[in-house]
Amino acid sequence: MFNNLLNLLYPENLTCIFCDEEIFDNNIYSTCDNCYKNLPFIKEKVCDRCGDVIKSMATYCNRCQKSKTNYDKARSVFYYKDEIRSCIKRFKFDGCKYLYKPLAQFMAEKYKEEKFYCDVITYIPIHETRLKLRGYNQAELLAKELSKILNVEFAENALLKIKKTMPQAELNYKQRQTNLIDVFKVVNKSAFKNKNVLIVDDIFTTGATIDNCASVIKKAGANKVFALTVAHTIIEE
Ligand SMILES: [Zn+2]
Ligand SMILES: [Zn+2]
Repeated sequence: MFNNLLNLLYPENLTCIFCDEEIFDNNIYSTCDNCYKNLPFIKEKVCDRCGDVIKSMATYCNRCQKSKTNYDKARSVFYYKDEIRSCIKRFKFDGCKYLYKPLAQFMAEKYKEEKFYCDVITYIPIHETRLKLRGYNQAELLAKELSKILNVEFAENALLKIKKTMPQAELNYKQRQTNLIDVFKVVNKSAFKNKNVLIVDDIFTTGATIDNCASVIKKAGANKVFALTVAHTIIEE
């Protein structure tokens, strides 16, 4: 009985998701103090729209000054580097599905910090053949958990990916422009109509995918569209 009680207080395999060290005090991020201190949180000034770090006093980065996006604001918790990079790779490709829980907790903090106040949370969908192959959509897991933590409505299967695409990273600029045409479709307009919507994904790279989804969500009648990702690729200026 004493052992049962101990297990309840200190569940086994309560280890840091980054270094595997045992954690003794229960913490929602499943991260030891030492790793937490060293995580690449984005604390610098960022573009008010896309979330790229900017060194000037301007409100928007060069790219956003030149062209408008369909999403209103995109933010990420971390830079896509170091422990976060390997953590996301484990989450997506090594079957470490459980990582959605601590990662969603980090996202919930950022959501509150940015005062997003959305009516509904959705995610970047993946094509159904990819879903069958991987078994889960990492963005969907994050979005669902985030909606639970924040007590915000969750739009499941309202936005679909109806065409297979090449990974954006493997394409040149011109191919990227056409790669995403007619790829996403809103199949449940009432999920977004007159609402402020949050789109969730794991990584923000150029924002092209998020922007495409924001476009169809706005065409479905959404008011504002925000985006929140775990990590943001560092763009060299
Ligand atoms: Zn650690
Ligand atoms: Zn920008």
